[in-house]
Amino acid sequence: MKTIGYATKSKDSQLKPFNFERRELRSNDVAIEILYSGICHSDLHQARNDWGFSEYPMVPGHEIIGKVIKVGNQVVNHKIGDTVAVGVMVDSCLQCDQCIKDEEHLCRETFTQTYNSPDRIDNSMTYGGYSKHIVTREKFVLKVPNSLDISKAAPILCAGITTYSPLKDHNVGPGSRVGVMGLGGLGHMAVKLANAMGASVTALTTSNNKVQMGLDIGANKVIVVNDKNSMKEASNTLDLIINTVPVKHDITKYIPLLDIKGEMVIVGQFGSLENFTTMPMVFGNNKLSLSVIGGLKMTQELLYFCAEHNIHPESEIIKMEQINDAFERLSSGNVSGRLVIDMSSLTFD
Ligand code: NAP
Ligand code: ZN
Repeated sequence: MKTIGYATKSKDSQLKPFNFERRELRSNDVAIEILYSGICHSDLHQARNDWGFSEYPMVPGHEIIGKVIKVGNQVVNHKIGDTVAVGVMVDSCLQCDQCIKDEEHLCRETFTQTYNSPDRIDNSMTYGGYSKHIVTREKFVLKVPNSLDISKAAPILCAGITTYSPLKDHNVGPGSRVGVMGLGGLGHMAVKLANAMGASVTALTTSNNKVQMGLDIGANKVIVVNDKNSMKEASNTLDLIINTVPVKHDITKYIPLLDIKGEMVIVGQFGSLENFTTMPMVFGNNKLSLSVIGGLKMTQELLYFCAEHNIHPESEIIKMEQINDAFERLSSGNVSGRLVIDMSSLTFD
């Protein structure tokens, strides 16, 4: 199938219109017309080869909402006209112990990314959601509940699941005290989800102008992290911190906010930390851990959870042609919530 997207041809290039072919449907494939595509900071990292394994041309995008337009002859779970979603994964081995327990994101053979991964069957590079259409293995296509506003829901597919998964792993509920570092795409979802789970939420932001937004979306308290007094007052008040900061940074000043045995889960920066020392953690038996997205079953559960609790990402809709400005805004930390592309703005010439 002929389609169009926006691609970057190198780590220093701007994204530009790109004509390409989606594969013919395999028997277990679903073809989707993409309606909305969220812009994750990981798209920016991969476009700029921050993680060192980018292949070009690259069509980023792994927060996808669309409509089924065609199904392979063995597809049973989706039909033409359904509203569906695709997140960060489009395949995995589905046979290892991790895949069997619905943790495809931890597949022993590594999951296939929605873009910038070789396809497991024909080895072609996968292309993501900044495009008009995608063809995806049925198992990796999720159902979108009717009550979700599809113009806002796309960020649930990555920002949502990446923060929901560690909140679930830590049994967050009434009585839990959760901190969230960063009020961007992931962080604002962490605030909404932890709040809906009944936790008391403290948002930790570097931006004075996000304080009101943090309170509006459900934080009980918002601390601007360069305010030393507020940081000191908040010492020992958190059980769990979800760290969404996207760049190399120093966690030292955040650790004292953790109570005894409290844990920081890094879901943001991949790579080294600045001035990292275990010193402030050792006398509180604190823990530091990492977490990557979440499995298909949990992502589907999250879509239903968001529908049930009327949780929608704070999505600012943009046009496809604004993507390079959007990347600049992300790069400067100048986004509250998430930017989402209305894919109807992308047309064939
Ligand atoms: P984003 O929308 O740009 O949000 C990041 C937020 O972090 C910013 O809005 C800003 O919030 C804060 N921040 C920025 N620079 C900072 C600094 N130097 N020090 C402290 N805070 C800073 O990014 P995102 O889409 O949420 O993604 C965040 C990170 O998660 C990225 O690195 C992305 O690659 C990663 N990620 C990981 C996974 C996973 O599976 N683990 C999945 C998706 C994304 P304030 O203005 O409120 O401070
Ligand atoms: Zn993402």
